[in-house]
Amino acid sequence: MQILTKQEYATFDEKLTRDIIQIVGKDNVITDIEGIYAYSFDCAHIPFSKKYPKIVVFPENTMQVSEIAKLANRYLIPIIPRGAGSNHAGGCAPVKGGIILHFSKMNKIFEINNENLTCRVQPGVVVGELQKEVQKIGLFFPPDPSNLAVSTIGGGIALSSGGPRAFKYGTFKDYVIDLEVVMADGTIIRTGAQTAKNVTGYNLTQLITGSEGTLGIVTEAVLKLIPSPEYTNVMLAYFESIESAVNAVSAIINNHMTPSVVDLLDKKTLQTIEDFYPVGLQTDKEAVLLIETDGDIVSVENQQNKISDICKKNGSTFVDCARNEEHRLKIWTARRSSFAACAKLAPNVITEDVVVPRSQIAALAKGIIHISEKYNLITMIMGHIGDGNIHPNFALDLRDEKQKHNFESAKKELFELAVKLGGTLSGEHGIGCQKANFLPIALDKATLQLMSQIKKVFDPNYILNPEKML
Ligand SMILES: Cc1cc2nc3c(=O)[nH]c(=O)nc-3n(C[C@H](O)[C@H](O)[C@H](O)COP(=O)(O)OP(=O)(O)OC[C@H]3O[C@@H](n4cnc5c(N)ncnc54)[C@H](O)[C@@H]3O)c2cc1C
Repeated sequence: MQILTKQEYATFDEKLTRDIIQIVGKDNVITDIEGIYAYSFDCAHIPFSKKYPKIVVFPENTMQVSEIAKLANRYLIPIIPRGAGSNHAGGCAPVKGGIILHFSKMNKIFEINNENLTCRVQPGVVVGELQKEVQKIGLFFPPDPSNLAVSTIGGGIALSSGGPRAFKYGTFKDYVIDLEVVMADGTIIRTGAQTAKNVTGYNLTQLITGSEGTLGIVTEAVLKLIPSPEYTNVMLAYFESIESAVNAVSAIINNHMTPSVVDLLDKKTLQTIEDFYPVGLQTDKEAVLLIETDGDIVSVENQQNKISDICKKNGSTFVDCARNEEHRLKIWTARRSSFAACAKLAPNVITEDVVVPRSQIAALAKGIIHISEKYNLITMIMGHIGDGNIHPNFALDLRDEKQKHNFESAKKELFELAVKLGGTLSGEHGIGCQKANFLPIALDKATLQLMSQIKKVFDPNYILNPEKML
């Protein structure tokens, strides 16, 4: 590897920019301070460090990504892959400066294969756009990180994002069958095949999936599709306590029902959403379950009736099924606006993401309430409760040192609680730089050591999304 001379270093920024422009053209870079400032943050929206990226680059193809990786590896400059920047873990924060690789210009759907039930796409494809395109021929890509209109396939793969439908359909990792990946030194590899089954060699596809851009840069993906359900409907079951809502979920599972979505929103979340996007939610109730069922129309009606009975037997005071498509979409818009609604409450909203075995969800919810009261934090509890996955939304002002300190203490206790209950630190949002320090709470020393060794093999010069995950 060629290290820069002192003289080279002095003119380094200019030289780097010149070299990158040679690769991607001048219309595909941002270097002005106003432009790069916008890419110093992601949705976590906390200035993790005072570092700005040196340059934001919009590659148009895999060869350009490979050339940039070669350059970055030579100059030992970090590369931070970025989709929509909508992750909650500081996964795109340029904590050591570097090159932001923004994939908005690699957003092509190359193929939707009705025979193989697959599609081949670039990482910048927006998840909602892919869903719309495959739906046109009766197919379905179920992963839905709740912000379909913006989040990208690359970000979803890198985090193995989940979302509401994970209860029935799983997360991104269940749909990725082959990846084209640019390695830290610019080498281009393929990890799988376009086949339904594959046990050929180590499963690099799954290793890269969920690796948060720390092991390689995804430049193309082959994804599994499934036939689209004929009909879908959603219902809201209201409860007088979070505990009875949780009991109803256990009863739904024990009765071997498989709704596609089982989400929970607590009273504060209901009230905040209703203020932001009035849709007629019952804001005096302590909790609501949002339950979606799918299948043919008769089966959906049957499932809804059974689930409604189960909820009522477990204390639901009111069950409201969507009356038509417009009503269904309104309920979903309300659900999807929960994060934006919370953002009205305080200058900062931090969405946490802990997951426990389903049997421990009541204990987790109780623990979150206790921790929030102890540290005097405004907390909205919501999440994909069917998966044991809760996202407490903390609304606070991080300029207030006391609130900041309280939040940090609460966060640590939250992670310890999740692990004590047999769970872990993240179900779907990833670790990023926000949770990296807490990893030893969940993983033992030997496991962490092995992970560090894997990182070293993939990225010996630590240029790929540094300070994330490990
Ligand atoms: C309102 C809201 C609701 C959400 N709800 C959910 C939810 O229900 N479930 C859920 O799972 N998540 C949810 N999320 C968070 C979720 O992580 C992201 O929304 C989404 O999946 C990330 O996609 P992105 O394109 O924004 O990725 P980014 O934020 O841009 O990137 C995420 C990570 O992927 C890496 N990355 C991006 N592209 C590549 C690539 N091509 N190669 C390698 N690495 C890459 C980045 O470096 C970063 O580490 C929500 C977020 C918001 C704002």
